[in-house]
Parts: sequence; structure tokens; C-alpha cells
Amino acid sequence: MTSTRPAAYRGRFAPSPTGPLHLGSLVAALASWLDARSAGGAWLLRIEDIDPPREQPGASAAIIHSLEQHGLHPDGDILWQSRRGAAYNAALDLLEAGGHLFSCACSRRQLDASGSCQRGCRDRQPPAAGKPSALRVAVPADFTSEWDDPWQGRQYWALGQQLTDFIVRRKDGLYAYQLAVVVDDAHQRITDVVRGADLLDSTPRQHLLQTLLGYPQPRYAHIPVLADSQGQKLSKQNLAPALDDAAAPDNLRRALHYLGQPAPPAGVNSAAELLEFALRHWSPHSLSRGPSVTVGH
Ligand code: GLU
Repeated sequence: MTSTRPAAYRGRFAPSPTGPLHLGSLVAALASWLDARSAGGAWLLRIEDIDPPREQPGASAAIIHSLEQHGLHPDGDILWQSRRGAAYNAALDLLEAGGHLFSCACSRRQLDASGSCQRGCRDRQPPAAGKPSALRVAVPADFTSEWDDPWQGRQYWALGQQLTDFIVRRKDGLYAYQLAVVVDDAHQRITDVVRGADLLDSTPRQHLLQTLLGYPQPRYAHIPVLADSQGQKLSKQNLAPALDDAAAPDNLRRALHYLGQPAPPAGVNSAAELLEFALRHWSPHSLSRGPSVTVGH
């Protein structure tokens, strides 16, 4: 008799090296680590270094070092997206062969505010050879994406009705995040994606690519992002301060606070002890629901 057991939990943290780790990214790393480890699962690290113009020199090494200092040790080798070009090309070829891609040479001014192509490139002749053009996925009109998100509630996205033909290879030839993330989540056999709610609207796009490429679909859970009192997400772009690695235990305590987890008692001092305590008490339901939590509260 054959039985189908659900695949063992495999989670991941997938930072872009656009700057060092800050409190918001530590919260995301910690949530995915706690969720994976509490399920007895693996936790992988992937450096999403596919956008050299946005990369900050030294950021990858700084992120890896910070994670170590905070006791967050990944399983297996780190996957570097900059070395994955062949796999991304193979996925593009598959999408192309299925008739799912079209070229779009629209300039930023010709696109709508969401970056969508409204000019009907999908139905036109391809742009002249040599003209820089992006490759977009033609989203089927009836495509919908649904999932139960533990922190964002039931999700239903009628992606096909939102004119969201999105880019998988940019005009400058670089691979788009949506493509690379889907290819690598499949390659790393990720079963559970725990990440910030700022990526919520990426999930339906990733569902579509998984469908078109015949990949399995991981479960998705989006934690509220840390925001300032104006509701602005704490990010490298708005210069959230880099974490001080020498203060790792304090940083972990703050991160646990924003994850709604019980405060480790005094006397639990090292990063390793704090993580051990947090793991024993991990309570996903205690984390507030919604898109963001305000820092300072
Ligand atoms: N690399 C993305 C970021 O740093 C996250 C990707 C993901 O978790 O899917 O925002």
C-alpha cells in the first residue's frame, strides 16, 4: 500500500543584499526560522543577488554574519541567485514554449502607475529586433489565486482581471524577482514561505508562474511588517538602521516582542538561549494580524 505523506517542512529566508540586516528583516528571518524549527523542519538561506545596480557592496557578507551572530544558522549551502542564470533561462524557455510570454518595449511613461502594460503589447507584433524590451507573462483573464493566510486572512486575487501582465525578464536583461523566486523555491523544495506582508501581492503572481511551470505550490504566510508611526515600512530604502551585531540578544528580544511572543525571563541571556526559549514558546496565533505593526509600541 502506498501512502502519500506531506513533504517535510522546508522554510527559507531570502534577503536581497541591498543593505545590512535591520530590525524589520530580523523579524522576518526569526519568524521563518521559528516556524520551520518548531515544525522540525529545515531552514534555508538564499541570497537574492540578481539586481547588481541595487546591490550594496559587502551587504551579503554582512547579512550572513548578522544571522550567525543572532544564532540563526541555515541548513545546507547558501543558494546565490547570481549563479542561477541557467535555471532561470530554462524556465523562460518553458514559458516561451507554452506561449505565455510577450515582449514589451514600453517606456516607464507609457505604463500605468502599477507598472502594467496598457498598450496592448501582448497583441501586437514583437518590437523590432535590437530594441530593448522586457519579457512579460500574459496573465490568463480567468486566473485567480486563493489561499488561507494565517496573519492576513483568507486571500482571493482575481489576478487576470487586474491588467497585471508582469515582467519576468527586464529590459536591461536582468531576471525579475518573481521569476527567480519561483524557480528557486521549487529548486530548494520549499514547502512553507513565511515573509513580510509587503510581498502579499507578489504571491498571486508566484502562484501563476508555479501553475505555468508545473511546480508545486508552497504554503504562504505573511507576517505584518514593522512600520513607523506614519505607517512607512521599515526598510533599507528608508534607511532603517543596521542591526548592531554586538547587541544580538537585545535585538532578538525586540524582534520577539514585535512577533507578539512571550518575553524571555531575565537570566536568558545569550542568542542561543533566547532562541531556545522562543522556540519552546512559539505561538503563531499571538502575532497580531494585519499588514503592519508600529515600531515603538
Ligand atoms: N528578496 C526579497 C526581499 O528581500 C524577499 C523574497 C521573498 O521572501 O520571497 O524583499
